[in-house]
Amino acid sequence: MSTSGGHDDRLAWAAGEISRWFPSSARDLPWRKVRTPWRALVSEFMLQQTQVSRVAERFEPFLELFPTPIAMVKAGEDAVLAEWSGMGYYRRARMLHAAAVAIVEHHGGVVPEDASTLETLPGVGRYTAGAIASIACGRSTPIVDGNVDRVFARLTCDGSTPGAKGREARRWEEAGAYVAAAERPDVANEGLMELGALVCQPKAAQCLICPLSEQCRALQTGKVGEIPPPKPRPKKKLVEMKVGIAWAGKKLLLARKPDSGLFAKTMFPPDLDAFSATEQFRTLGEVKHQTTHRDVRVQVLLFPNGSRASGAVWKDPDDPKLALTSLASKIISLAKQNQVDASEEAASS
Ligand code: SF4
Repeated sequence: MSTSGGHDDRLAWAAGEISRWFPSSARDLPWRKVRTPWRALVSEFMLQQTQVSRVAERFEPFLELFPTPIAMVKAGEDAVLAEWSGMGYYRRARMLHAAAVAIVEHHGGVVPEDASTLETLPGVGRYTAGAIASIACGRSTPIVDGNVDRVFARLTCDGSTPGAKGREARRWEEAGAYVAAAERPDVANEGLMELGALVCQPKAAQCLICPLSEQCRALQTGKVGEIPPPKPRPKKKLVEMKVGIAWAGKKLLLARKPDSGLFAKTMFPPDLDAFSATEQFRTLGEVKHQTTHRDVRVQVLLFPNGSRASGAVWKDPDDPKLALTSLASKIISLAKQNQVDASEEAASS
């Protein structure tokens, strides 16, 4: 491009540079080995709020169990939740299962390839639809996520605050102009996200090795560290819970959380009010847990051996098939530690 070129010229130039840079810089990630729309859909759901390294460990075993939308529907939602164990944000697992159901019921079990049809699936927003359509199906469809937003904001020196009026629409327009100029939409879009993840990082932009440095407006004007400005953070909501621990040998009382609400449909130590009001208990301690929007504090209470709680069942807490959230696992660890301490105390007295 000419260095005096306009906005779209800069984006078209970036599409060429990133497409040349990406093939030799791409990380070796499991969902890149074999490309299918279903694998892309599963990887996008997993990557929404879980670290890449964690997803990389879990991806192939998950796909072995659910190799197609039909296989996932046959296995059922509980099996998907159980296999999601430890990845957090279980709503994504439920939405993934719901998307598989929609694919089977409305699309003959075949993942649609165009973004507008993909967007009709549960849990699939504009970004996810664009990522699957472009990266797995080669369609010229734009994508905007946090990485893309940052790269374009710096490339064009857009100092507006994330969430500011007009910013998101502008970014989608830029992403459209960018991908329209690309010879290979799959390479250009995936490369753009990779550049944001590996090079144009939020706090440590590596401009010296960046293929866009020659035309980057933020770099030219010394504003890399200021763009994008931090997003105002809403205060986290405090959630307080009281749960009961009751053992029968190695089995623990667990109850399935309701179908909606926090930790929906996962197995959890029962709430205090599920136990009889006449039962004695003592406090074991408090477990703290943070989610994106919540600050959760759980008071953990120990009930005598063999106590009952309505709606709860005896389960082996080490059963890998249980859909346990990381918070439930933390609570159970506290309960197990208490058992060890109590048996050591008994042995030494
Ligand atoms: S030159 Fe620096 S700020 Fe500009 S896109 Fe590259 S890494 Fe980001």
